[in-house]
Amino acid sequence: MLAQRTALVTGAASGIGRAIALAYARAGARVVVSDLDTAGGAQTVALVREAGGDAIFVAADVASPEANQALVARAVEHYGALHVACNNAGIGGDLAPTADYPVEAWQKVIAVNLSGVFYGMRAQIPALLAAGGGAIVNVASILGAVGFANAPAYTAAKHGVLGLTKAAALEYGAQGVRVNAVGPAFIHTPMIERLEQDPATNAALVAMHPIGRLGRPEEVAELVLWLSSPAASFVTGSYYPVDGGFLAR
Ligand code: NAD
Repeated sequence: MLAQRTALVTGAASGIGRAIALAYARAGARVVVSDLDTAGGAQTVALVREAGGDAIFVAADVASPEANQALVARAVEHYGALHVACNNAGIGGDLAPTADYPVEAWQKVIAVNLSGVFYGMRAQIPALLAAGGGAIVNVASILGAVGFANAPAYTAAKHGVLGLTKAAALEYGAQGVRVNAVGPAFIHTPMIERLEQDPATNAALVAMHPIGRLGRPEEVAELVLWLSSPAASFVTGSYYPVDGGFLAR
């Protein structure tokens, strides 16, 4: 599906990003694993290599425009070209109602979850164009489509990711660069472990998903892989939930 292709994944030291890196590798791509967390990133690279794949780790903070440029430059230098990018890095941020939401927490969530995707695409698109085309998948959330009390920054950032996705899809579609977003509901990863530990909160989370359970990182990776591949050649500018029915209620 992605043989002879190079794919970059941010936030790939953990959770959904790691599952995406492994899915890309299984599909034949050379994978650039990026994250702030170097130990977790090294583990992901080891898992890719154990599975017979080819990967390198490049440390980068997505909230830095310069780090995104350096990351793409390193990918192109090492593998010769970049064809696929998945902007997955993200943080949950504080939980508080809007009037009480700390300004610093707002700025941090916007810097990573929204500006990080903009800086990422800004660096990735020229490389994809130079490679003759490619695909970008941005990891938004169900909270890119609906609101969630006590998560104003996260909800706003993920809605913003959908806007960025649509604008870039319009701009670069005719030049062979497809841009889509995915919207996971609650997925078992370190990001939500804290919520899952409390039995009442966990039961409430499960009840939000008509399918009767939370999702697995691999279930998000399947959708990201498809959107990244030539199988999705007529798909751009869209948002795809992977949510166990969350948005159907
Ligand atoms: P996770 O915490 O397991 O992994 C996130 C990774 O991003 C970590 O490895 C972390 O080090 C990295 N990261 C954080 N800030 C970074 C930065 N500034 N620069 C580079 N890397 C950074 O979380 P996850 O659940 O795998 O989340 C992955 C993506 O999926 C996020 O964008 C998140 O918002 C989204 N998402 C998660 C869920 C869920 O329920 N887990 C639901 C919807 C969307």
